[in-house]
Amino acid sequence: MIVLRKAIADMAGYVPGFQPADADQWIKLNTNENPYPPSPKVAEAIRAELGEDGASLRQYPDAGSRRARQIAADLYGFDADWLIMANGSDELLNNLIRAFADEGDEVAFVHPSYSYYGTLIDIQGAKVKTFALDAHHKLVDFPARYSGKIFFLTCPNAPLGFTFSLEEIEDLAQRCDGMLVVDEAYTDFSDQTAMPLVKKYDNVVVTRTLSKSYALAGMRLGLAVARPEVVAALDKIRDHYHLDRLALVAAEAALLDQDYLKKRVAQICETRDWFAAELEKIGFSIIPSQGNFVFASPGDGDGERVYELLKSHKILVRHFSDPLLKHGLRISIGTREEMEATLKVLQQG
Ligand code: PMP
Repeated sequence: MIVLRKAIADMAGYVPGFQPADADQWIKLNTNENPYPPSPKVAEAIRAELGEDGASLRQYPDAGSRRARQIAADLYGFDADWLIMANGSDELLNNLIRAFADEGDEVAFVHPSYSYYGTLIDIQGAKVKTFALDAHHKLVDFPARYSGKIFFLTCPNAPLGFTFSLEEIEDLAQRCDGMLVVDEAYTDFSDQTAMPLVKKYDNVVVTRTLSKSYALAGMRLGLAVARPEVVAALDKIRDHYHLDRLALVAAEAALLDQDYLKKRVAQICETRDWFAAELEKIGFSIIPSQGNFVFASPGDGDGERVYELLKSHKILVRHFSDPLLKHGLRISIGTREEMEATLKVLQQG
């Protein structure tokens, strides 16, 4: 007889939205990928690691990701024992819940933000708590002291694109009895980071991904900075060889090429700001974005109609059925050409 854990039997599972099988035939603006290739140093490093015959793949990778950890730690100004690399930042979000929340414990996040936190909390059998935002993107009903085990703060927020100020984040760190995890998946497209708070408060963790700004979604790479005790706990939980040899050399090369990162980020932000201004001219309301996407609502408030219109032109954006979000669309920023094509459809429709 098949007897699942109750938490697993009861949970819905993550619903990622429509994913076309022929993704290369679409203008794909639905998952906040980077439209440009990663640094050319990444492909060079992967080729060098593979060599002529891929012989290096016989051996396991460095389980401690030591070189990549040191490079990332130097980049962000931490000792290496304050930093952990991961198989996408999703792995870190998952392992933070496993480290801090027992079955039945409460774990919170902002609604709307990254709904995958809810799935990970469900898997652990912990209790989901969400905190809502008011019209000015301020948290409503966040208590003077929050006793949940973790509060995930997506900063910049996805899908809305705004960011909480450092003062707001610091205030939340002081009000949380448990951990405050600042998910900075999109922070390279903004002008702020909560990393200095990791040194100031022992309950603050900052997570990053290489999927967006570094254009490495296909390699699955993320990292976190936290107190060494937290990093040590995350090291105990993770799969032993969670990063393969090619991912490790890719991470090292990408993190070392900061000039390339800055150039691409600037290009994407410029396209984002141009695209947002053009959408406003044709009646969309826009939330100023600090990510590589914009949340845009058409004048008639019918996000689904515009989603279907774009889809009929093989342009894929993200529409959420959630009542708080269904009036709008989250549109990832592609190349200037892709955004011009998108704009053309929207101008006609
Ligand atoms: N956090 C947020 C807010 C995200 O949007 C995403 C990716 N969609 C992630 C984390 C996960 O990123 P990764 O690819 O590193 O697992």
